[in-house]
Amino acid sequence: MQKAEIVIIGGGVIGSAIAYFTAVDPAFQGRILVIEKDPTYAEAATARSAGGIRQQFSTPENIQMSIFGAAFVKAAAEHLSLPGERIDLPFVENGYLFLATAAGLPVLARNHALQTELGAEIAFLDPAGLRQRFPWLNTEDLAGGSHGLANEGWTDPYSLLQAFRRKAIQLGVEYRKDAVAGMLREGDRITAVELAGGERIACGAAVDAAGIGATGIARTVGVELPVRPRKRFVFVFDCREPIRKAPLTIDPSGVYFRPEGASFICGVSPEEAEDRDCTDLEVEYELFESAIWPALAHRVPAFEAIKLVRAWAGHYDYNTLDQNAILGRVPGFANFYLANGFSGHGLQQSPAVGRAIAELLVHGRYRTLDLSRFGFERVLAGQPLAELNVV
Ligand SMILES: Cc1cc2nc3c(=O)[nH]c(=O)nc-3n(C[C@H](O)[C@H](O)[C@H](O)COP(=O)(O)OP(=O)(O)OC[C@H]3O[C@@H](n4cnc5c(N)ncnc54)[C@H](O)[C@@H]3O)c2cc1C
Repeated sequence: MQKAEIVIIGGGVIGSAIAYFTAVDPAFQGRILVIEKDPTYAEAATARSAGGIRQQFSTPENIQMSIFGAAFVKAAAEHLSLPGERIDLPFVENGYLFLATAAGLPVLARNHALQTELGAEIAFLDPAGLRQRFPWLNTEDLAGGSHGLANEGWTDPYSLLQAFRRKAIQLGVEYRKDAVAGMLREGDRITAVELAGGERIACGAAVDAAGIGATGIARTVGVELPVRPRKRFVFVFDCREPIRKAPLTIDPSGVYFRPEGASFICGVSPEEAEDRDCTDLEVEYELFESAIWPALAHRVPAFEAIKLVRAWAGHYDYNTLDQNAILGRVPGFANFYLANGFSGHGLQQSPAVGRAIAELLVHGRYRTLDLSRFGFERVLAGQPLAELNVV
């Protein structure tokens, strides 16, 4: 039987970040194997992501993870370049703009105080301030907004994934194209990972970073994750009137938009009651006409005349308990680790999560950012650590 010290299931941006950070740690010696069923990543969340990075969260650890994420992406050349090939990642630093009506203002103000305390540079604006900075915005029903001044914007998700993957390979990590069917357990240990064809690979430790596939894999050793596949759409539209340096803007209705080159992208999350488990990737174009466009046109009068260009769908690995990541060693297991449940903000968290899980694998504890509150313990206890700013 083949053996690897660390087997990572899922080679998306999270699995690849974990592989990179583990391999780059001089204290680690051994074989790292990433098992990825589809190296084209055609349906992976990473390849369908909007690539946003923001500090405007309500959970302190999320703010801190994104501060690290932004710094890492900006310094990608230093971390992820290959011999003879400099790797630069794009980072459009236009910020996020969260808008609030009077009802939403107290929460916005509370979040802003926390974000600022943790070192994020966020401006809190009244309607006059909003109009001055964003003359294209309709502020008639707004009470305020918060705008990220630095380290917020968006990168290219696929490039970040490939940069992690290629650097990990250069550092000696092996990627294997195969599907994991399950894991084998003896007492408190995962002894092997079983592939779809029946082959078993013995492991020193196993990491479940399989995105929406994580739940099925964990179930094979009796671990029930509250992580479900939830479909989200991204619509691309053109607007004739130029809108200068727009941030990723989140309307109080939940509709968001941001520039993408000369076009714009936009979307909205459904109400909880309508947000069903779903594994297909069909686009519901009706949503754009019925819900998104009216909200866009209300907020930005120039968006009354826009043209829908195309759209795609992707899946959030949605944590139904509290919309936060589930990270770390599973209680009751000596060598089984989780990194999933990202609920739509995993791309920006990938550097911090990669670093954190590598610390657990190599040193047995978090050494930089303490992410223990994201542990599976809270799921077992039924105690949510709720994130309020889910886009
Ligand atoms: C429409 C959309 C917009 C988003 N926008 C943002 C954003 O603006 N900012 C942000 O931070 N995040 C965003 N996200 C979320 C972000 O993309 C994800 O949180 C992140 O990509 C998760 O990475 P991952 O590696 O865990 O999952 P994935 O990229 O899905 O990778 C998991 C991998 O596991 C593999 N796999 C699954 N099962 C198995 C198996 N049994 N055997 C082997 N391999 C397996 C899959 O093939 C896949 O490649 C968005 C997501 C979507 C869908």
